[in-house]
Amino acid sequence: MSRVYNFSAGPSMLPVPVLERAASEMLDYNGSGMSVMEMSHRSPVYEAIIKEAEAGLRKLMNIPDNYKVLFMQGGATTQFAAVPLNLIGRTGKADYVISGQFSNKAFKEAQRLGFDVRAIASSKDTNFDRIPVITKDMVSPDASYVHICFNNTIYGTKFNYIPDTGNIPLVADMSSCIISEPFDVSKFGVIYAGAQKNMAPAGVTVVIVREDLLEFGKPDMPSMLDWKLMSENSSMYNTPPCYCIYMAKLVYEWILGLGGLDAMKELNQKKAKYLYDYLDSQDYYIAPAVKESRSMMNVTFVTGVEELDKKFPGAAEKAGLVNLKGHRSVGGMRASIYNAMPYEGVVKLVEFMKEFASENPKK
Ligand SMILES: *Cc1c(COP(=O)(O)O)cnc(C)c1O
Repeated sequence: MSRVYNFSAGPSMLPVPVLERAASEMLDYNGSGMSVMEMSHRSPVYEAIIKEAEAGLRKLMNIPDNYKVLFMQGGATTQFAAVPLNLIGRTGKADYVISGQFSNKAFKEAQRLGFDVRAIASSKDTNFDRIPVITKDMVSPDASYVHICFNNTIYGTKFNYIPDTGNIPLVADMSSCIISEPFDVSKFGVIYAGAQKNMAPAGVTVVIVREDLLEFGKPDMPSMLDWKLMSENSSMYNTPPCYCIYMAKLVYEWILGLGGLDAMKELNQKKAKYLYDYLDSQDYYIAPAVKESRSMMNVTFVTGVEELDKKFPGAAEKAGLVNLKGHRSVGGMRASIYNAMPYEGVVKLVEFMKEFASENPKK
């Protein structure tokens, strides 16, 4: 068996010890005589799994007691609709920060549903190479919430601070940075994240919501989008994505075993620094994201020569480094170095980048 270093933006690598444990429990979970895939979600054995998953995430992120943790379906994209449907009833209006494609999609989804939403800042003019500056006075005093995308997966940018929105709840899409480092959850009204970047296989979406924000949902919204209903039913209003939740539980336990999010952050910083230090030390590759906004999870770079950008991912693949092609809207390359990417993978990547540069001189 040989495993590659997979730099995919998502679905992405999972930690090998987690995959091994899942494999060992595949046919007989904990003496139940069946796989987690085959169990009733109402069985005591499965109820223990979903409870442990929630407890694991609560411990990992130090989630205060007045926040609910929901396991939902439909990806982060479904939450683009669920956010206004659950929250805009507070005042009838909401603010959005446009820092990339996903935040723009969230904004457009709210508009599509006919809601009164305003874009208060954008970095579109510079092709989303930075996070727009957000100050308290930019926030509409009558906004139900301010929506941000904390880490912009496509552009390789990240908020390096938590914007102060005063008493207006801050809602953050953390799909590509959740559990990569500690965050002060109490600074947010809502955090949501699709699992397939940093937590589990695709299929489950985590929503962390402050209890007092469960009172503003549109009465006619689809049941499956209703955070309050989900909360009242402990994420089991219908059949949850059982196996994905089990995998998330294993991932949470793996990180707790490493020493929690402080330890995870240290490793992630070490990986990102190694790659950015190399990028800053040479001029063959260019990193389009401005330094202050650099993501720790998704690192974008280009050669500036279309032909070389095209050649790089295929050549890297031959060296066992896969899925390095950048998103079509940025071009070039993107290395997603989520929690499960080992340090050695990043070292290998930098070695390969050096080789590629010397073998493919720019004319
Ligand atoms: C991947 C991603 C999404 C979309 O997630 P789906 O689960 O495919 O709906 C949304 N936001 C961010 C920041 C992402 O990285």
